[in-house]
Amino acid sequence: MKVLKFGGTSIENSERIRNVLGIIRNAIKDSPVIIVVSAIRKVTDLLLEAAVAAGSGDAGYRERLVTIENIHGDLVRDLIDLSRRNEVQEVLTDELKELGDILYGVSLLRDLSDRSKALILSFGERFSARIMSTFFCQEGLDASYTDARKLIVTDTNHCDARVDMSASSELISAWFKEERGVPVVTGYIGAAHDGTATTLGRGGSDYTATILGSVAGADEIQIWTDVDGFFSADPKRVKDAYVLPFISYGEAMELSHSGAKVLHPYSVHPAMKKGIPITIRNSYNPDVEGTRISAPEGSDTGSGKPVTGLSSINDVVLLNFSGSGMVGVPGIASRLFSCLARHKINIIFISQASSEQSISLAINLVQAEKARLLLEQEFAAELAARQIESLTFRKHIAIIAVVGKQMPGHPGVSAHLFETLGKNGINVIAVAQGANEMNISFVIDSHDEDKALHCVHESFLLSRRKVHVFIAGTGTIAKSLIGQIRDHSLTLRKEKEMDVVVSGMANTRMHVSDDDGIDLSRWESGLKPRNDGKTVSDYVDYIKSRNLHNTIFVDCTASAEVAACYPELLASNISVVTANKLGTAGSWELYETISGALHASNARFLYETNVGAGLPIINTLNDLRNSGDRIVRIEGVLSGTLSYIFNELRKGGKFSEIVRSARDAGYTEPDPREDLSGADFARKFLILGRELGYRLDYEDIECESLVPESLRGEMSVEEFMERLGSIDAEYQTRISEAAEKGMTIAYAGEISEGKARIGVKMLPVSNPVAGLNGTENLVVFTTDRYLDTPLVVKGPGAGGEVTAGGVFADILRIASYLI
Ligand code: ASP
Ligand code: MG
Repeated sequence: MKVLKFGGTSIENSERIRNVLGIIRNAIKDSPVIIVVSAIRKVTDLLLEAAVAAGSGDAGYRERLVTIENIHGDLVRDLIDLSRRNEVQEVLTDELKELGDILYGVSLLRDLSDRSKALILSFGERFSARIMSTFFCQEGLDASYTDARKLIVTDTNHCDARVDMSASSELISAWFKEERGVPVVTGYIGAAHDGTATTLGRGGSDYTATILGSVAGADEIQIWTDVDGFFSADPKRVKDAYVLPFISYGEAMELSHSGAKVLHPYSVHPAMKKGIPITIRNSYNPDVEGTRISAPEGSDTGSGKPVTGLSSINDVVLLNFSGSGMVGVPGIASRLFSCLARHKINIIFISQASSEQSISLAINLVQAEKARLLLEQEFAAELAARQIESLTFRKHIAIIAVVGKQMPGHPGVSAHLFETLGKNGINVIAVAQGANEMNISFVIDSHDEDKALHCVHESFLLSRRKVHVFIAGTGTIAKSLIGQIRDHSLTLRKEKEMDVVVSGMANTRMHVSDDDGIDLSRWESGLKPRNDGKTVSDYVDYIKSRNLHNTIFVDCTASAEVAACYPELLASNISVVTANKLGTAGSWELYETISGALHASNARFLYETNVGAGLPIINTLNDLRNSGDRIVRIEGVLSGTLSYIFNELRKGGKFSEIVRSARDAGYTEPDPREDLSGADFARKFLILGRELGYRLDYEDIECESLVPESLRGEMSVEEFMERLGSIDAEYQTRISEAAEKGMTIAYAGEISEGKARIGVKMLPVSNPVAGLNGTENLVVFTTDRYLDTPLVVKGPGAGGEVTAGGVFADILRIASYLI
């Protein structure tokens, strides 16, 4: 025998009811069945609204009544043949009249007791079972309408009644002995010992089904609903959630208690006691197997993952009860719990640290005010004596439960959980894990609920992990970066099980964004004019408001305004990768603010490309220092333009002609004075100096400008280029003088003992600097370990592709840290 329960959405219209008939026909081929039905979709809500309206004397209940009448009238018309229509319509009319009278009575008295409310609610299931049983008979089944008030005995907590199992079992067994056809039983409702109607709480039809199934000794209880089964997380919130084909009774209980709406939480228990499997099936998709809930079979190791699923609740408040006067005083907790229990306030979550200084509880939001009043009364004396210092209620929280039958005895689950949350900057307010170890529940701010669900789901339940990248700037570096991410994404997925998702790109005028990733092959056509204030902070606000997990901000601009936002980003736990030097080489104040924010945050800040583009300079320096080496000196050429000029000078060229050819080849800024001033070069040494731990500002770097004194006044680029020839002779002299000593000259920088100097210097022809070609950059590290033969990093120090490659590598470094 099987029990088939159909929820409100599975029978919401005549077409769905015909579909249900097909499902039942299929099932009775193999075995007898008991059918349990909910009210038609929305009817319970309408009844409740009508009851509440009537209770406050509001005639608006009548409108609801008309809607209810129409919903059922339509079904009768669509489903029932003329020959039977009158008969069923008569019964319904009588019942509707009764319902109308009750509501009228309530509205006159303006008093809605739980007892009246339960009676009003009972009509929903009575109507639906009536119509369906009539329809099934008409279609040739031996169906019979069965009112569960004859079968299920409860206490007198009318709207959320507890079932008296032994009394109910007797009634059900006796009934089941008689029963031959296809009973269509009203779900959700029962009767107290005094015969008054009660309900089993919202969604209680599932419970009716498992009670009947367990007493009647069913082989299976099928819960037909509108989703494919239990999911690894709520699929409405977490897109990648998937159906769990099998879960244990314990897991089903943990998940449904903590918010998964698939199954009424109480309904697991009766089935579990008898070892009857419950299957969750989708009436809209009956070919799908759904989820099977049963005892774990001996060899079953489930998915092999310690965590099976997540669920969350957010219509709760966290009540915190604290005071040093509670320490070592027995009875406080007992009074606290008893007080709440006496007033039927259910406790969802409890946590008390061993210091006994505070107890945290979560209760339903709707009961919060009542609880506050009750507890203030109960503990008035202790509060007055400051034995209990505070009783606070925190709203806007969410409780997330991480559930899995493999969690017991599996070390590292909570470590991994809290690490994941921490790296995403999600603050955990309270935690509880019972000794069955099957559920770790934690409380967070509700603002972080989605983010937490996503990152925890990904880290425990998916093999592939995501990082979300937001790019500032759409210029050369950004373009190359997008191309590299696009071309490499398949490999990253395969080899690293990682998805680098570009969720946004913006410049000062345009933007394109999509949390799930913009299309990298056509992002330019997706750019739309920004309609915010078009400031950098608008973009930062946008990124913060998305609150996505594993977020990295990538600065591909050269804007000081963007650099000024790093502290705010880091403080929001958003990591930053930058190709823009204006943060690390900006004012000392900004540099310090960034370091401070970085310290206080779990986010990362990487800027390898700030010195020498794609060349591994900052990482090399840090590896040396972190492994205990001492840096004696760093020398180098960190400007492609200046490198080129001196490499050509050494070959015998004329200074002004070389500058002109460099400008023609695009090796200089449009105004070559910007390169010749050495400012950009000096900034890179400033960064290296700060990296070494020195408190340096730009002014502290001694920097020789190659713009001759005589040409420093205001003049156009053209005029400057014309007049530059005046210094050609000077350079020729300097080179020949050096040559006489077996030396040569170069524009290079050096930092040692906190002093940085860049400018033209004489050096032996054997020095690696003298051996550079083209626009090559070079950094020479002289350290305790690399003393006689220094460590040299050499290569192109500029260019879109190599810079983007360095940025990409930084992104991946942060990604590996995050995931
Ligand atoms: N009709 C009731 C409700 O909506 C019971 C159920 O659907 O299970 O809560
Ligand atoms: Mg339901």
